[in-house]
Amino acid sequence: MQFSPYAAEVDPYTIFADIVAGRAPASFVYEDDDVVAFMDIRPWTPGHLLVIPRTPARSLAELPPEMGGKLFQVGQRLAAALRDSEVACDGVNFFLADGVAAGQEVFHVHLHVIPRTRGDGIGLRGHPRNARREDLDYLAASIRRGVS
Ligand code: AMP
Repeated sequence: MQFSPYAAEVDPYTIFADIVAGRAPASFVYEDDDVVAFMDIRPWTPGHLLVIPRTPARSLAELPPEMGGKLFQVGQRLAAALRDSEVACDGVNFFLADGVAAGQEVFHVHLHVIPRTRGDGIGLRGHPRNARREDLDYLAASIRRGVS
């Protein structure tokens, strides 16, 4: 198996493996043969969910593409369920941290499904700037070469 450079720096053990195996507690909202979803223990907003594959993958590079699709599909269903639930939810963010630099702390791929309400204070900080077309085109060409 090929491991990502980030994952190689960390212990492969994760609490999510214990949750999948039933050795650690979780408040489940969805389960099937491939994925499980449960409440995040430190929610950014009430109702914050995590969708994870049953089979551990430490990074997107390790995750079979069909499983990435499955995480998104279940995330879509959970977003609809959140809107229909008693959770305060005017909108939903999906978030996935791949690698330490992206904020990943648990090295078992997981999709955050985060209910949003106006003024809840959640946001990705950044400083977007207008880019020059030639710079966009240069990087686009570089990225295109790597698309498998
Ligand atoms: P990330 O920074 O994307 O790796 O997010 C890891 C997430 O896992 C955080 O939002 C944590 O609050 C959450 N988390 C860690 N341990 C548990 C646990 N035992 N049960 C539920 N969520 C957890």
